[in-house]
Amino acid sequence: MDPEHTGAPGLHRAPVACPPVTRACARPGCGDAATATFVYDYQERTTWLDRLAGERHPMAYDLCAAHADAFTVPRGWRLVDRRQGHTVRSELAS
Ligand SMILES: [Zn+2]
Repeated sequence: MDPEHTGAPGLHRAPVACPPVTRACARPGCGDAATATFVYDYQERTTWLDRLAGERHPMAYDLCAAHADAFTVPRGWRLVDRRQGHTVRSELAS
């Protein structure tokens, strides 16, 4: 049927490990190691805060722990912190 898979199954299926990632916080002037990654969607007006992504994404920005904790979104936007659990914080009028 599929000769490619009759020889040594699994050879090309090495598990993708999570390599230790060391990237710097994206905030200007902050060189701390990033521990979180955030992405946003203008149409949804939502920002998602995740644990540091394994791969750099052009639409994602890295933040250190301090900046991730202090992260706020513009008025009318929603911030979804997915770093632990699924807590949702809404940024209401300040
Ligand atoms: Zn920072």
